[in-house]
Amino acid sequence: MKIITEHMTVETKGDPDLIDLTERIREVLKRSGLRQGSLTVFVTGSTAAVTTFEYEPGLIKDVRALYEKLVPRKTGYAHDASWGDANGFSHLRAMIQGPSLVIPFENGKLTLGTWQQVVLAEFDNRPRRRDIVVQMAGTGNEKQVGG
Ligand code: ZN
Repeated sequence: MKIITEHMTVETKGDPDLIDLTERIREVLKRSGLRQGSLTVFVTGSTAAVTTFEYEPGLIKDVRALYEKLVPRKTGYAHDASWGDANGFSHLRAMIQGPSLVIPFENGKLTLGTWQQVVLAEFDNRPRRRDIVVQMAGTGNEKQVGG
């Protein structure tokens, strides 16, 4: 089994920015030459998240509305008093969504559904440059040796 790690940089506009990463992740997998295994997509940082949903304008609106309902964008969270950066809501949204997604792949292809995109959710209250880690663990076409 091989483990291959790649990084990609994504510029975001700040909350609520939802960016489709699916094609870039497909390219990374293709480059790796791996055929079977699983891949983790992870965003470094505590005010962004990685998730999956159907990436279309209606649902993008719905997802934004859901985050606003769950964790309203306002100041007054205790974190805002600690640092004065007014992004308590960003940390809370990122925490409930989570920073990573695991996707199995077979025959060199992600096992995603047609309407299942991989989405970076930027929650910070300002534009950020995000480091996305894609780590693949799997096998290529080489013969398996040993037991
Ligand atoms: Zn903060």
